[in-house]
Amino acid sequence: MRILIVEDDDMIGDSIRQWLGRESYTVDWATDGVDAAATLRGTTYDLVILDLGLPGRDGISLLTEIRRDENPVMVLVITARDQMEDRINTLDAGADDYLVKPFNLNELSARVRALSRRRCGTGKPVLEIGNLCLNPVTHDVSLAGKRVHVTLREFTLLRILMEHPSKPFSREELQHRLYNWDEAINSNVIEHYISSLRRKLGSEWIHNMRGVGWMLHRQA
Ligand code: CA
Repeated sequence: MRILIVEDDDMIGDSIRQWLGRESYTVDWATDGVDAAATLRGTTYDLVILDLGLPGRDGISLLTEIRRDENPVMVLVITARDQMEDRINTLDAGADDYLVKPFNLNELSARVRALSRRRCGTGKPVLEIGNLCLNPVTHDVSLAGKRVHVTLREFTLLRILMEHPSKPFSREELQHRLYNWDEAINSNVIEHYISSLRRKLGSEWIHNMRGVGWMLHRQA
């Protein structure tokens, strides 16, 4: 899942970025409303974590534009404004959830996971396909009840494939979801992670569609 944080407070923005980065999300950070709008027009995100009081442009106007453009990105608003009217206006403007500052980062993670489940349409905390299970909370992967040890990148890649089991992903899409702006990418890195996952899970799990990309192969 690729996330854009829009937050002008350095301490809050940096702590969210580090926290979610450790949870294996791919995270970018914009500190200004105008920059954020331009970024959202050029890059596809799964979730925006949006502060309302921003330099350049207010968060509500950004949210209104996201919805007017029919951008399907999920929006979690984080703000110090905690009047009931503010919460209602924010949700009515198209936010998917709302968190009042100061908040606990564990609660932020739980809300991000809940939004991710809603986006996948599973509603379930653990992703299960056949006898393959992935738990986004504990970061455990198991196959037929046996724990499979995966690296953080492998976990993220597998989660992307498991969230959309009938969708093929191109190398570019996977790179986009796995790496943020600041990371240099080796051109074979996706192939490397795919083959490593195949070794650990069994090659039948990830199907290579020539010229298209990779897809998780549903097992009966
Ligand atoms: Ca602010």
